[in-house]
Amino acid sequence: ARRRRDGGVVVIGLGRFGCHLASSLTQLGHEVLAVDRNPDRVQKWSPYLDRVVQADSTEEGTLRQLGLADFGRVVVAIGASVEASVLTVLALAELGGPEIWARATSDQHARILESVGARHVIFPEAETGERVAHLIVSRMLDYI
Ligand code: ATP
Repeated sequence: ARRRRDGGVVVIGLGRFGCHLASSLTQLGHEVLAVDRNPDRVQKWSPYLDRVVQADSTEEGTLRQLGLADFGRVVVAIGASVEASVLTVLALAELGGPEIWARATSDQHARILESVGARHVIFPEAETGERVAHLIVSRMLDYI
């Protein structure tokens, strides 16, 4: 029988956002499988994460071979390339299995991600900007 990894999370794309996400999940005790097509990124993060694989995430067959269907959740952390992010979500949706979280860089990008199968869409830059604004304002109030 195939091993189930319901508590495990796949992180696709080890850019500035994806690498912090993957290392935080690891620190929180979750099994992480990280995927990036760039061999330099794979080499850089291999010592710090359980499993880092070099692969193109837009290829459904590759995702299947990596056993992604057994994981509970997958986060598509690719940001700059809308095409790579959309094709990856599409391949994951066709694969079935993990709940899909995906990073968007615009509202249109978010709508496409939702329409091809993303359950949750995240905007790391917008969310961080908003959070820091609230933090600054809340600390201003401390001094009044
Ligand atoms: P960040 O802001 O998180 O640094 P970014 O938008 O600057 O991200 P991107 O170009 O989105 O950077 O790439 C994030 C990571 O995703 C990179 O390490 C890149 O190699 C990886 N990546 C991009 N396309 C694919 C793909 N098709 N398959 C696997 N990994 C990919």
